[in-house]
Amino acid sequence: MSESKDFLRTIAEEDLTSGKYNAVVTRFPPEPNGFPHIGHAKSICINFGIARDYRGHCNLRMDDTNPTTEDMRYVEALKDAVEWLGFDWGENVYFASDYFPKLYQYAVKLIQMGKAYVDSLNEEEIRQYRGSVTQAGRRSVYAQRSVQENLDLFERMKKGEFKDGEHVLRAKIDMGAANMKMRDPLLYRIRHAHHFRTGDEWCIYPMYDFAHCLSDYIEGVTHSICTLEFENNRDIYDWVLDALELTPPRPYQHEFARLGMNYTVMSKRKLLELVNGGYVHGWDDPRLPTIAGYKRRGYTAESIINFCDQIGIAKANSMVDVAQLEFCIRDDLNTKVPRVMCVLDPLKLTIENYEGMEEIDASYYPHDVPKNGSRKLPFSKEIYIERDDFMENPPSGYFRLTPDQPVRLKHAYIVTCKEVVKDANGNIVEIKATYDPASKSGSDTSGIKVKSAIHWVSAPHAKAVEVRLYERLYSVDAPEGVEDLNPNSLHVIPRAFVEPAVVCEKPNERFQFERQGYFYADPIDYTDEKPVFNKIVGLKDSWTKKSEPAAPVSKPEAKKVHVEGEAIPMSAEEQARFERYTNALGLNAEIANTLARDEGLSAFYEDALSAHANPVGIANIVANDVARELKQAGKLAFGAKEVAKLVALVDEGVISSKISKEVFEHMCQTGENPELIVHAKGLVQISDPALIAPIIEGIIAQNPENVAKYKAGNTKLFGFFVGQALKATGGKANPSVVNALVEKALEHA
Ligand code: ATP
Ligand code: MG
Repeated sequence: MSESKDFLRTIAEEDLTSGKYNAVVTRFPPEPNGFPHIGHAKSICINFGIARDYRGHCNLRMDDTNPTTEDMRYVEALKDAVEWLGFDWGENVYFASDYFPKLYQYAVKLIQMGKAYVDSLNEEEIRQYRGSVTQAGRRSVYAQRSVQENLDLFERMKKGEFKDGEHVLRAKIDMGAANMKMRDPLLYRIRHAHHFRTGDEWCIYPMYDFAHCLSDYIEGVTHSICTLEFENNRDIYDWVLDALELTPPRPYQHEFARLGMNYTVMSKRKLLELVNGGYVHGWDDPRLPTIAGYKRRGYTAESIINFCDQIGIAKANSMVDVAQLEFCIRDDLNTKVPRVMCVLDPLKLTIENYEGMEEIDASYYPHDVPKNGSRKLPFSKEIYIERDDFMENPPSGYFRLTPDQPVRLKHAYIVTCKEVVKDANGNIVEIKATYDPASKSGSDTSGIKVKSAIHWVSAPHAKAVEVRLYERLYSVDAPEGVEDLNPNSLHVIPRAFVEPAVVCEKPNERFQFERQGYFYADPIDYTDEKPVFNKIVGLKDSWTKKSEPAAPVSKPEAKKVHVEGEAIPMSAEEQARFERYTNALGLNAEIANTLARDEGLSAFYEDALSAHANPVGIANIVANDVARELKQAGKLAFGAKEVAKLVALVDEGVISSKISKEVFEHMCQTGENPELIVHAKGLVQISDPALIAPIIEGIIAQNPENVAKYKAGNTKLFGFFVGQALKATGGKANPSVVNALVEKALEHA
């Protein structure tokens, strides 16, 4: 058990001592409408943790009362997450849908007691009648229906005699209650929808406020622990259980603060958007805060549990720094995993005075780690070092290899640079060096002073591997939407080199790559032919380091410098393009630079430009979205003409620029023409009165009663007609056009 007791454990303990309950029963009640995330991990640790600490039980219950969004696949992901975190739900996974018959009986009982009624106001009216924080609501006339009439209507609702939204079942509580949730809350609604477990058996579904408390009661739950946003629902929770006069004991609800973390989003709905929009590669993408993502990235269950422990349980919402989670995984792996060498950006170094090869006995762990083990590390004449571990004209404070400064090869010898070999463009392609045979690590008698040790691999013995480097998914700490995504969250290095000891007998092995970070053999994509490693986390918090003033250099620095694309001078051709783009076409320097330096992209750009004359609009999408897609997918499913068309659709006002992002993602996936996508997916805003008017006429014709009531002075019904029209167009109709048309149509009706 955690050393300090949190308020939930204090309550549980008091309830046991006072004899209120014989045993603690909690539950983790997710809705199976997405993969669980780190916030759910917190809830899992709390609910299962408390049950374990007091030798009680925690149920895993799917809160599957919303038929349209749920899926068995999500149930499996939830089970997997709980299991992976090391908790046990016992014999059965429970489903709220299994209680539908019982819940129906409880509803009937409430009606019989005169505590619930069938209301026939529509959604809009219900909202209006509810009042506001400063104004009491008023009760629907239908609340006066007799018990008999209510029972009859409720039964017919169940039988499917009514359309969605025609009636609802409401609790009869208090339309003037200060807590607005208590103003006759909805208990059941009609939904003619297929449920993934109950199929078409039901067309009425219980609302959360009715189903949740009763599911808890049915399962014998004692402590119903949920997040703070349900604080106001607690009154309904209590009301339902008390109103039904159930046999005690009954459960009580307790709230805690939900976990929020910076640089990510944490709601299944938003995560679903990222997955469906193709912004990430599935629910288990290592950049996502899902349990499946962390698992695939190489996080350990221990580190996540430790994190949940550290952040504690509080009553006030707060934002946790993702660096804290990163600390936990680093802390866990630091003493656990072997340290080996991997070169991400190789530069050949030839040791001219070395012949043959030798195997160095190199320890996997440093002295301060209480673990043993070593491997044979091959050393030979040709090795790879990290490109940025050599500098020809180093700034002061650079402690690695330079023409004047020797360096130690970790576990091996000291080398001295003799010659820098360059290609025709002036890029360094090789270092020629010598080594000192007396400088071997552990038995150094050379007397040479070096300032640092760098990692390396023997070129003929090295194995090529793919390395996937991850950065934060979003580039801002409180992201709002996909526009805040970090375009560099994934960087794939197709050919990095590891020493031969890095072989994975089982697919899920972790290593520290010296000076680079912790890495995990990708559990899905790793094969012996093509090993793939995911970066779990760096060795230190490189994120905060970026914003802090550079620390005085005292140790060898592991920070990576991206050499690619760094101020290499432009060719004459590139320069000419750059000037044309900035001067004649008005592109900003950054976009112009990206396009000018890339022959393929600039050809694509000009091709698109010839089809639609919007140089800036097209440049933006080509330099950003097209370039990104090309980098990630390796090829494009569409051509320049399609991109031009997409920009034209925005320019012509057919779609918003926000929608164009959605269309673009779809183009990437299907290669379809944007116009087709826009029409097939119905993304065009409908503003044409000729299209909307007949819909409104239809609604008016179908609702003569409401028209009569409206004519008799019930002006509130105006909203009803507008609402129906918007609904009929799937929300695509332009609301102001609808308003004007409804007004006109009602006048003439
Ligand atoms: P989401 O918005 O991600 O869908 P939710 O609260 O709707 O979250 P549920 O599946 O209904 O998700 O939640 C299952 C349990 O997990 C609930 O008890 C809920 O309070 C808890 N939970 C969800 N998100 C968090 C979070 N960020 N921190 C702590 N607990 C959470
Ligand atoms: Mg939810």
